[in-house]
Amino acid sequence: MSNPVSLSRDSDIGVIRINYPPVNALGHGVREGLQQCLRDALADEQIRAVVVIGEGKTFPAGADIREFGKPPQQPALPAVIDEYEASDKLVVAAIHGTALGGGLEVALGCDYRVALDSARLGLPEVKLGLLPGAGGTQRLPRLVGAQKALEMVVGGNPVKAKEALSLGLVDEMVSGDLLDGALAYTRQLLVDNAPLRKLRDLAVPDAQDGLFDQFEQSIARKQRGFKAPFSCIKAVKAAVELPFDKGVERERELFFELLVSPESAAQRHVFFAEREVAKVPGLDKNTPKREINQVAVIGAGTMGGGIAMNFANAGIPVRLLEVKEDALERGVAVIRKNYENTAKKGRITDEQVEQRMALIQPTLSYDDLSDVDLVIEAVFENMDVKEAVFSELDRVCKPGAILATNTSTLDVDRIASFTQRPEDVMGMHFFSPANVMKLLENVRGEKTSDEVIATVMDLSRRIGKVGVLVGVCHGFVGNRMLHRRQAEAVQLVNEGASPQQVDKVLFDLGFPMGPFAMSDLAGMDVGYRIREELRKEDPANGPARNWTDELVEAGRLGQKTQAGVFDYKDGDRTPVPSTAVDGIIEQYRSNNGITPREISDQEILERCMYVMVNEGAKILEEGIAARPLDVDVIWIYGYGFPVYRGGVLFWADQVGVKAIFEKVNEIYQQTGSDVWKPAKLLSDLAEQGKGFYSK
Ligand code: NAD
Repeated sequence: MSNPVSLSRDSDIGVIRINYPPVNALGHGVREGLQQCLRDALADEQIRAVVVIGEGKTFPAGADIREFGKPPQQPALPAVIDEYEASDKLVVAAIHGTALGGGLEVALGCDYRVALDSARLGLPEVKLGLLPGAGGTQRLPRLVGAQKALEMVVGGNPVKAKEALSLGLVDEMVSGDLLDGALAYTRQLLVDNAPLRKLRDLAVPDAQDGLFDQFEQSIARKQRGFKAPFSCIKAVKAAVELPFDKGVERERELFFELLVSPESAAQRHVFFAEREVAKVPGLDKNTPKREINQVAVIGAGTMGGGIAMNFANAGIPVRLLEVKEDALERGVAVIRKNYENTAKKGRITDEQVEQRMALIQPTLSYDDLSDVDLVIEAVFENMDVKEAVFSELDRVCKPGAILATNTSTLDVDRIASFTQRPEDVMGMHFFSPANVMKLLENVRGEKTSDEVIATVMDLSRRIGKVGVLVGVCHGFVGNRMLHRRQAEAVQLVNEGASPQQVDKVLFDLGFPMGPFAMSDLAGMDVGYRIREELRKEDPANGPARNWTDELVEAGRLGQKTQAGVFDYKDGDRTPVPSTAVDGIIEQYRSNNGITPREISDQEILERCMYVMVNEGAKILEEGIAARPLDVDVIWIYGYGFPVYRGGVLFWADQVGVKAIFEKVNEIYQQTGSDVWKPAKLLSDLAEQGKGFYSK
């Protein structure tokens, strides 16, 4: 490849252009080029000032993350930036697109910054578990103040050009041609005899007493378990408390600590995995996709309403069908209320509320569905009802319409068989609340066509979801693993643990809540009905009765009845241990001749997590999920598994697959339970000394 950075001259101004598509990332060649071109410009007597600009769509948008984990190649970015800052000729950064991470740090090494009005500037390193390690945490506070620097470095979100201008982060905003604007600005600086402006020489304005402690407290809950946000705070604090060079040293120290941390490794894994799930192995990326311009949702209940909102939010009109007028009205009213609440919080305007409501078209008639491109069914979880709906859809929908089901547990192939077009049927399993949760398990049936899969995967992204393709089995990937964990949690309580002990162990691992708080939130009756169904289907092998069945039968359904495994006082969502439940559990144990024993936190952790790892391995073995990363993305986006642990299987690799296999096998030998029978994949990996992700 030709040199990615070049120097040219526009009368007395040197123009350094970065041309390294797609985003001008600061890879080795770019760093070397930036350094060389600056040296050439400084040596050229005809050049009085320098403009740095990106070709194509952006100023450098960050470090080249493909270089992570490889031996560093000189020159390192901080050294390049130092040379820019040491320049005795004026250097002006001309910014368009997204000046992110290292890109913004380069701009901060320049004397002045000019931005196109559409540009965005930010330091998003924290999102990969890192911090800006090329002076960004030291220079930014000197320009915008400690408070704003904290917001930008710890939050990681970019600011728009207009805000950057008001913050002083950019000195001039231009519209039209950026280079023309930057050259004109630079010429004016020369005319005005403007001084060099080295950020390292400025003092940090406005660091109020207690700022850092307060800031730390304000993020403590949301960022629990993450390491980088707290290191970012320390780095900005160093900018306030230490001289520049010492501050930079501290920043480097903190940066390298993060670079080798398991938290950052996990976050980078999730970053790549989230992009990778969209590429379905075996599915040609040129597979034609169908146009989706009009959607329909059947059922305006909890899920249907939320699903419809996703399409309205993306500007796609959606017909919402119910059988009864009152259910339809109720469903539409809930959607409106949801939007109005969002507007009250200032996240959308009143006008947007009306626009979105106008895109949701309520109907009671299937005849209104004859022209839709996609239907998503979200009616009661009952095969007979699904059969009635899909027969009707098959009758009214045009050829080529995609017929999807949101079922959580029913057999998608069976549902497809109710139509004459099983190749157009698949599952689109949304998670509750469907307008909020980012995960979409797209379930491919035995006969689903590639075209339908490609269309639905693409559509997932269009409506802001992370779509993961899975195969047909009870519970698909997420709930199948979840059911194992929930059953194990119940079993641990049978044996002597308390529900609050079990919940605390999983909360401490990083889950947003423990298994029992979760079932209280979802409604204990959901699992109860599924168990009853299984018991009816197969009385000999259905799930054994346990103390949670008794809670449901006593009317303790969870948060909605203010009593489940825990008590909930006056609408408060905080779970409070319940003596009534303790009594039911004790009774259950004594009826079943169980003498409770002391159970360690470690045992709880191992049994609840390893049972999921083993199930995940079975899921991979059966091809229900294509890759470990599909399983991990499902757990991150569907169940709040901590991003800084990378997903259930990434976590398993960090614990060690061999140790997990040995424990799983030990429990299997003790219990003989099929659930604990080690997956072949798990035992193979253990034997080969490998992990899920080793090549
Ligand atoms: P819900 O009871 O809240 O809503 C179902 C709606 O479907 C009701 O409004 C009902 O009036 C309507 N309905 C019933 N029969 C109909 C028919 N023949 N035609 C049109 N409308 C009909 O149930 P839900 O929780 O929204 O679940 C719906 C589906 O989504 C189920 O298959 C469920 O397994 C699945 N699901 C639920 C969740 C969850 O957390 N609730 C999560 C993922 C998937």
